[in-house]
Amino acid sequence: MKRLIPAFAGTNARLPDPLTGLRTRAVFRELIESEMSSSGNHHHPLGLIMLDLDRFKVINYGYSERCGDLLLQEVSTLIAQTLRAGDQVGRWGGQEFLCLLPGADCKITDSIAEQLRQAIESLTLNAEGYEIHVTASLGAACFPEDASNTGQLIAACGAAMYQAKNTGRNRVTHADALHGQVFGLGKLLDSALREHRVVPAYQPIVDLNSGAIVADEALARVVNADQAPLAAEHFIEAARQLQVTYQIDRAIIISVIKHCVQNLRAAPNMAHFVNISGNLLRHPKVVSEILDAARIHCAACSDLTGPTKPLVIEITERELLHDIDATRNMLRPFLDFGMRLALDDFGSGYSSFKYLADLPFSFVKIEGTLIQRIREKRVRTIVQGIQKAASDLGLVTVAEFVESEEIAAIVRTTGVDWAQGYYYGLPEIPT
Ligand code: C2E
Ligand code: MG
Ligand code: MG
Repeated sequence: MKRLIPAFAGTNARLPDPLTGLRTRAVFRELIESEMSSSGNHHHPLGLIMLDLDRFKVINYGYSERCGDLLLQEVSTLIAQTLRAGDQVGRWGGQEFLCLLPGADCKITDSIAEQLRQAIESLTLNAEGYEIHVTASLGAACFPEDASNTGQLIAACGAAMYQAKNTGRNRVTHADALHGQVFGLGKLLDSALREHRVVPAYQPIVDLNSGAIVADEALARVVNADQAPLAAEHFIEAARQLQVTYQIDRAIIISVIKHCVQNLRAAPNMAHFVNISGNLLRHPKVVSEILDAARIHCAACSDLTGPTKPLVIEITERELLHDIDATRNMLRPFLDFGMRLALDDFGSGYSSFKYLADLPFSFVKIEGTLIQRIREKRVRTIVQGIQKAASDLGLVTVAEFVESEEIAAIVRTTGVDWAQGYYYGLPEIPT
């Protein structure tokens, strides 16, 4: 049996972790730094794995803290036994461990991470009369592919681990470019939300028969005085992973409600589409805040709107359709208020026909990448099929990503009602 690698001795902060005997965070970080500079000098790869035990609190509080402590000791021994000679393990904090793998490229790092996952899944701890099992979520990253300095390597690894947790636990995720950026984007979003710099840009939606602008879609942008606004595609995935999309939704929807009230007299029939995230399900207070804002602002123009209000809520399967009942409950007050529902990105592989039966949609937005291929006969047939089903169900269809007159003309022949895309206008922040 391999023994745990002895930790550094020295001042208190440098003493090994008293529970596991492993190096603690500060010392382990120095070790990564020194291995990284040596790997850089010798052009060797270096792997890093962050391992976090799943639902550790259940063991610590559901069983006992003593069981939790014993488990951490068992796991640290098991990690050391599973690693190769020369690899290092440290306790990063709580139930988190870091493993440093000198000379390991991405492939080796991922394979060792998977071995660790399996080893932990097979562990049985017998303690205080209980038989305890545990799993772990692991993030893997390697130098030089995923990072060029220690901070980046740890961040990429941590973000990959975070992704492993968010996508089901008991799994290994390798860092990708987004993972490396997640925490940086999180910081950017935090300050932007605090400083009210997350604002809507409006993109027109046109009636294909009359050519008139009948609606717009509000798309989130982060504005920064010195730079061009940052489009949602660059931060929305990071926001999802960090579970702050509900804050973006709140900022955007409340701005759209104000925009709607300001424009209602000039364009009483305009619909305003907003995107919402699954994250809102877990924030009923924010749903109430949005509805309060809607009630207050809409009172100012109650003479102009009937029971149907101009706001349309767009949802996608990826975001909201996993738990139809929870989604229906969350949406009910919005629908009761008179807002309508749109199924976004229909045909993307996310949104399927089944959802049209499950929720009271009024609009179907046809996935832009299908519309971009509308010249292909097979794709046109699919769009015609969607159009037929939607029109039989009494739904209005919107083609996304209409980028040219030619595409607009073909889309028109399929019977699709409305269109949106760069051909009609870019998303713009009102001045
Ligand atoms: P989406 O709701 O399907 O929005 C359409 C995206 O396609 C937008 O990107 C838009 O700028 C872009 N687009 C519009 N016309 C064209 C075109 O002709 N060609 C091409 N190639 N692209 C076009 P954006 O603004 O970066 O948003 C990306 C996604 O982020 C949105 O997809 C939506 O799912 C999400 N999102 C945007 N704003 C919000 C928000 O306030 N809350 C939430 N939860 N999600 C948002
Ligand atoms: Mg949308
Ligand atoms: Mg869409």
